[in-house]
Amino acid sequence: MTFQKNTEFKNSWVVITGGDRGIGRAISYQFASYGANIIVIYKINKSEAKKTISTIKSMGVEARAIRCDVSNYQLVQKIFSQIIRYCGSIAVLINCAGIINDKTITNLTKKDWNIVIDTNLNGCFNCSKAVLKNMIKKNYGRIINISSVIAQTGNIGQSNYAASKSAIIGFTKSIALETAKYDITVNALSPGFIKTDMTKNIPLKIKQKIIKKIPKKRFGLPEEVARAAVFLASPQSVFITGQVLNINGGFYM
Ligand code: NAD
Repeated sequence: MTFQKNTEFKNSWVVITGGDRGIGRAISYQFASYGANIIVIYKINKSEAKKTISTIKSMGVEARAIRCDVSNYQLVQKIFSQIIRYCGSIAVLINCAGIINDKTITNLTKKDWNIVIDTNLNGCFNCSKAVLKNMIKKNYGRIINISSVIAQTGNIGQSNYAASKSAIIGFTKSIALETAKYDITVNALSPGFIKTDMTKNIPLKIKQKIIKKIPKKRFGLPEEVARAAVFLASPQSVFITGQVLNINGGFYM
């Protein structure tokens, strides 16, 4: 893989939850290619995280992978305070960790509901809470929350996922209002169907049906989401806060 050399984020630290694979990994690579130092938060897969870190380091920046379950409030506060001590400050937080656990409502158990809300929504709260005091003190920060087109359209079998991702949009707007005066921006990205592990098990027939409904006639690539994340954290977007940027090939307008 080759990346264009750019130093827009030189000496800044960017924390990406779920940065070890899929969209999060593409975001990690994109920020690293702009000179940022990277902290990748992952849940389980140490070897995948290690591979990601070694690619990031090969771009000439600092990088560390840290295992942390974002749904665990106490653990997140503890690990993020260690990260802040190590880095001095976190310039950018990307809340990308997320899961699906699809079942129609009659089959969906309380446990199925809770695990998705705890990871996707509470994870986003836990990590934002852990960085915001420091960002306010530094009078600077960028938070980008990964929502989903499913927040906007709903989907059969995804009431838990849709609820978690819609709530992220309300959370984003409220925190954006609360922090604008500290030169902190908080925005959400709303990807459509993107080619990652999360979508690889969609049966071919359903995939073909979905593609028919996407004006661009394909799934998106993680890199196409990553470029938008870098834009929202860059000096080009200082006046953009509380927004939801759709990256869905025209699937939802
Ligand atoms: P993925 O399954 O490849 O990656 C999910 C990541 O989340 C992994 O890195 C995993 O380690 C991390 N994660 C999961 N639970 C965690 C936990 N409790 N603590 C810490 N990390 C945890 O999926 P992806 O497609 O790359 O998804 C990334 C984000 O983008 C998710 O929030 C997902 O909901 C969102 N999204 C994906 C699509 C898509 O089509 N792929 C579309 C819209 C939104």
